[in-house]
Amino acid sequence: MIQAPRGTFDVLPEEAARREHLESQARRVLSAAGYRRIETPAFEATELFARGVGEATDIVQKEMYTFDDGGGRSQTLRPEGTAPVCRAYIEHGMHKLAQPVKLWYLSSFFRSEAPQRGRYRQFWQVGAEAIGSAHPETDAELIVLLADLLDALTVKDVHLRISSLGTPETRVAYRRELTEYLRANQDALSEDVRARIEVNPMRAFDSTDPRTREVMREAPKLLERLSDADAAHFGAVRSLLDDAGVAYELDPTLVRGLDYYTRTVFEFTSDALGAQSGVGGGGRYDRLIEQLDGAPTPACGFAAGVERMLLAAGELPVAADVVDLFVACAGEDPGANKTAFELAHDARRAGLTAQLELAGRSLKGQLKHADRIGARYVAIVEDGTTSLRDMQSGEQRETAARNVIPTILRGHWQL
Ligand code: AMP
Repeated sequence: MIQAPRGTFDVLPEEAARREHLESQARRVLSAAGYRRIETPAFEATELFARGVGEATDIVQKEMYTFDDGGGRSQTLRPEGTAPVCRAYIEHGMHKLAQPVKLWYLSSFFRSEAPQRGRYRQFWQVGAEAIGSAHPETDAELIVLLADLLDALTVKDVHLRISSLGTPETRVAYRRELTEYLRANQDALSEDVRARIEVNPMRAFDSTDPRTREVMREAPKLLERLSDADAAHFGAVRSLLDDAGVAYELDPTLVRGLDYYTRTVFEFTSDALGAQSGVGGGGRYDRLIEQLDGAPTPACGFAAGVERMLLAAGELPVAADVVDLFVACAGEDPGANKTAFELAHDARRAGLTAQLELAGRSLKGQLKHADRIGARYVAIVEDGTTSLRDMQSGEQRETAARNVIPTILRGHWQL
C-alpha cells in the first residue's frame, strides 16, 4: 500500500471544513484591515531563500527541499512566505502603489524537519505582510490582528512574547560583544552551541542545555544595546499594545529562526500544544527588500501555522452539509434516468443542493440513503410519474417533474 510521505498528511472532509472556517476567519480579520490576498508559486529560485532568509539559518542550511529544474537552475520548495512576497512586490513594481502594500496569504510551505505533533514537512501558514511603512502602528496593528485571529479561532492558552532586535548595525556591534562573551565561557556551552558561536551566536539563547542556559542568563542582551531611535520605536509599539489591552511578555532572548528581522519581533505560543508550542510570529524586516535588489523599503509581517492553530483551537462552528433534494430513480426505462439527471441539474442551477442516486440502490435503499445524508426532500422518478416526499413530515405527493423545484423553493405544497 502506498502511503502519504512521512511528515505529510491528508486533509479529509471533516478537517477540511475546520480549515475552511479558519480561512474565512482569516479573510474576515485581515480584509477588514485592508489586506488583500496574494498567491506566489510553490517553488522559487533557491537564491531567493539563501539571500532572503539567510545562509546561516537552520532553514537554509538543513531544511530546504532543493532540486534542479532540468535546465541547470536550482529551485526550492518555499520554506516560508515573506521572501516570496517581497520578491513579488519588487517584480511587479508595487512600490508605485499607495504604501504600505498590505498582502495576506494562506499557502503551503515545505521544510525537511523531523516530523512530530504540530511539525510537518508540508504545512500551511496564514501570513500577512505590510510593505512600505516604518511606523510602529504597523507593527502593533499586525500583532493585534494576529491576536484577533487567534481569538476568533478560540486558540487556547495563548501567550505573546515580544522583543526588538534593533538595526543591523546595532546587531553587528552586539554580535561582536556576544561572540566574545560566548568564547570566554565556551567550556560551559553545549557542543552544538560552541560549534556555532561564529556562525550564529544568537541561537545560543534557544539552547535547552542546562549549563548553556545558565551561561545565557548572564549574557549581554540586545535589548539593552538598542539605539535611541530603535528604543523609541519599540516603546511606541509597546504603548500601542498596552492601549489595545494586548498582554505580552518582554523577552529579550526572543530569537526567530530567520535572519531578516529588524526592530520588532514577536511570537505567540499556546500551552495547549506540546513541544512545538509556537503558533505564529513575525516582526519587522526593514532591510529585506533592499537585500533582494529592491529600493530600501521598511516592512513588517507575521505567519501563523494553520495546523497548530487548529490543534490548539476549541470546538469550531462547522457548517453542516445541507442536502435540499435527493433525486431517487425507480424507473426501468432510460427516460426516467434522464428525467432524474435533469431534475438534479436544474435544482442546482436554481440554487438548491441536490444529489442524484449513483449507486444503483433499490428504491428502499435510496430512501434510506436520502435519510442518512439528511435530505430535506426526495423526488422519486418512476416511469412516467414523479412524486415528491417531504422527509420532515413524511408527506408524499405525485407531481409533475417541473413542479418539484418550485415546490421546494416555496417550501410548501401548492394548494
Ligand atoms: P516561522 O516561519 O518558522 O516563524 O513559523 C511560523 C509558524 O508556522 C510557527 O509558529 C508554526 O505555527 C508554523 N510552522 C513552522 N514550521 C512548521 C512545521 N514544520 N510544521 C507545522 N507548522 C509549522
